[in-house]
Amino acid sequence: MEFKSKEYYEQIAKELCFQTRAFIGGMFVEASQGKTFDTINPATGEKITNVSGCGKEDVLNAEKEARKAFEDGCWVKKSPAEKKEILFRLSELIMEHQEELAVMESVDSGKPIRDTLTGDIPDTALTFRWHAEAIDKLEDAITAGDGEHLSLVVREPLGVVGAVLPWNFPLQMAAWKLAPILASGNSCVVKPAKLTSLTLLKLAELAKEAGLPDGVLNVVPGDGSVIGEALGMHPELEALTFTGSTEVGKKLLAMSGKTNAKRILLEMGGKNPCIIMPDVKDLDHAAEEAVNAVFWNMGENCTSNSRLLVHKDIKEKVVEKTKALRTGNPLDPDNHLGAIVEKKHMNTILNYIQKGKEEGGKLLCGGGPILEETGGNFIAPTVFDGVTPEMTIAKEEIFGPVLAIIEFQTEEEALRIANDTEYGLQASLFTDDLSTAHRMSRALRAGTVSVNCYSEGDIGTPFGGFRQSGFFSRDKSLQANKQYTELKTIWIQL
Ligand code: NAP
Ligand code: MG
Repeated sequence: MEFKSKEYYEQIAKELCFQTRAFIGGMFVEASQGKTFDTINPATGEKITNVSGCGKEDVLNAEKEARKAFEDGCWVKKSPAEKKEILFRLSELIMEHQEELAVMESVDSGKPIRDTLTGDIPDTALTFRWHAEAIDKLEDAITAGDGEHLSLVVREPLGVVGAVLPWNFPLQMAAWKLAPILASGNSCVVKPAKLTSLTLLKLAELAKEAGLPDGVLNVVPGDGSVIGEALGMHPELEALTFTGSTEVGKKLLAMSGKTNAKRILLEMGGKNPCIIMPDVKDLDHAAEEAVNAVFWNMGENCTSNSRLLVHKDIKEKVVEKTKALRTGNPLDPDNHLGAIVEKKHMNTILNYIQKGKEEGGKLLCGGGPILEETGGNFIAPTVFDGVTPEMTIAKEEIFGPVLAIIEFQTEEEALRIANDTEYGLQASLFTDDLSTAHRMSRALRAGTVSVNCYSEGDIGTPFGGFRQSGFFSRDKSLQANKQYTELKTIWIQL
């Protein structure tokens, strides 16, 4: 893609118009208590605007509107063709507003414009189109039965689904949840992360313009502890889908147990390994991918490959490619890395870097804040060598631009280190040997294993985690459409 100039994107940023109020029952409304919170540009430290800070009563209202819409059938009873047309229109509107949405996402979250323009926004549009296309392609079943009865196994929408979202891919994660929720006929109440509410509120405006009936989609910005809990503890919500930390995900499971046993679908953290086997000849390619795998999105990525397991010495190449990454103003398309989402998270990352030093990691590059004069939150991409599996930076999810290089001697040892984690979201493997590729990709305990590249697959492949990276959840693929439905058996005497 050909990018325009930094000045061009900065001009769009100046002219942005925000939706800042909650979206309930098809209308933008103030929070019932009139509260608001500031949303900050992490690249400058400046306030962008105020957003409505919803409370429990707003969640209850939003659920009522969603329930009313579900029960009157304004969405669920539309024909597959009608539903598709509306979701296709939404997808088109997202692309018509792509520059505005990409700049808004960059300004609100610190993500580099080169990524929001080429990834977040087009992927959001694709996600709505893809799940909408599936609406009239999924088939139900007739089982063998006993000859005296007709047995149908059909899928029904769940009803009202809640969604709690993270800040690292604000619009894209919203789409991964909303597209299959809506395609399956449900209504929903969605909570964006407080740090990044703006693009989802804009999406709500576009959904209304596309013809999505009022009440089907409701957006309630505000505190996780308030809104997330109001959704988790809601006595009637049929399901709650979540992307975020393992800690909060587990809380939602407990809330479901304490209330109505709502279906809980969790996508959580990761401490993902990238293994480069000694047989790899194209070390340049492997190093390039390994660097992208850890530093993409400033490492604020649940599949960030923050552990690099190497046999051969390709450390020099890794450092050289890390140093070639440009960090700075997210609206400058020459920058590969933008700003860390907030000061508090930046300090968490800096503490991990400090721990890495104290526990004996050898710093090869980076290691601290940069561009402090901008008022923004920037960290130089950081590489530690000589890391051992028991060190904190090898164990805990940092969610920042920090790579730990760990050495191994044998395939068994590489697999043991890679799998020695409470997580299991993604793993990357580099090898020139076909048998090794098959053997090791099956042995890695992760929801996605990419071979000879770093990848999360595409929209047609399921995405979710083993162990404490996930709970009964797969985003993307037909599996996502299915997980927002109930199976029903209909047994008819002939
Ligand atoms: P987080 O603190 O768990 O926040 C995620 C969402 O949960 C936010 O909307 C947050 O609200 C809300 N929340 C916070 N406390 C809550 C509570 N007590 N009850 C209910 N909801 C609550 O996660 P984060 O630190 O923002 O995001 C980073 C984490 O997300 C990382 O661990 C990362 O691995 C994970 N992640 C996973 C995936 C995946 O697909 N597996 C993708 C992206 C990120 P507020 O923040 O608005 O208060
Ligand atoms: Mg948080």
